[in-house]
Amino acid sequence: MTLIIHTIPAFQDNYLWLFHQSGERAAFVVDPGDAQPVLECLARHDLELAGILITHHHPDHTGGIKDLLAHFDAPVYGPNSAHIPQITQQVGEGDRITLAGARFSVLEIPGHTLDHIAYHAAPEDESPLVFCGDTLFSAGCGRLFEGSPEQMHQSLQKLAALPDTTQIYCAHEYTLSNLAFATAVEPDSKALQEKTAADTTKRQQGLPTVPSTLSIERETNPFLRCHLPTVVQAAMQHSACQLQSPAEVLREIRLWKDNF
Ligand code: ZN
Ligand code: FE
Repeated sequence: MTLIIHTIPAFQDNYLWLFHQSGERAAFVVDPGDAQPVLECLARHDLELAGILITHHHPDHTGGIKDLLAHFDAPVYGPNSAHIPQITQQVGEGDRITLAGARFSVLEIPGHTLDHIAYHAAPEDESPLVFCGDTLFSAGCGRLFEGSPEQMHQSLQKLAALPDTTQIYCAHEYTLSNLAFATAVEPDSKALQEKTAADTTKRQQGLPTVPSTLSIERETNPFLRCHLPTVVQAAMQHSACQLQSPAEVLREIRLWKDNF
């Protein structure tokens, strides 16, 4: 059994993920901000929509639900959130759901929004994976629209505690601009130079830079590195403040990035 995951680009820089078990027609889509490209992908691969997974309430992640439900009678999994009335299966921390033969567990990861969740699976004989929406990006993290830096720090640490080989299926192609910022924070990082070279080539070839891998993110993503001396130093220098905790470091580099 193999989990097949299709990458569906949408809007300017969103990725919608569609997955199914090889040889099976039942497919599940994550964060369908737009229905049309999902319907096209389903038709192209002769699949049927068997479920919708939502990570958080923003329209670029939920805007296609209504149109998809007009074509398919499918359950909608998502967080307990007043903003998403179409959810039929509310899920929260520790809940387990089996989709396309893979057992997913739900992580609550507030910060970008308060209702943000992730779906993590470790299919047998395959790399573990996580659909993490707009919380963890390759070389970056989501903006703090609703949560506090402390919440975001805890949420990112929860994701960072997943196995090293976890594939990070984030919802946007922000990698190159994130890497430019990460390099401003840690200019001497060889890992960042290597990732920037590799991802620049991918983009030149029109390829996505995601999924990323957790081990690479631990080495290159400043928002997962708020406890490390190089990042702490850079944040203190940039903010001209004495910073006492990783959450304070995260607050400062998030502000820095917002204005980068
Ligand atoms: Zn969002
Ligand atoms: Fe988004």
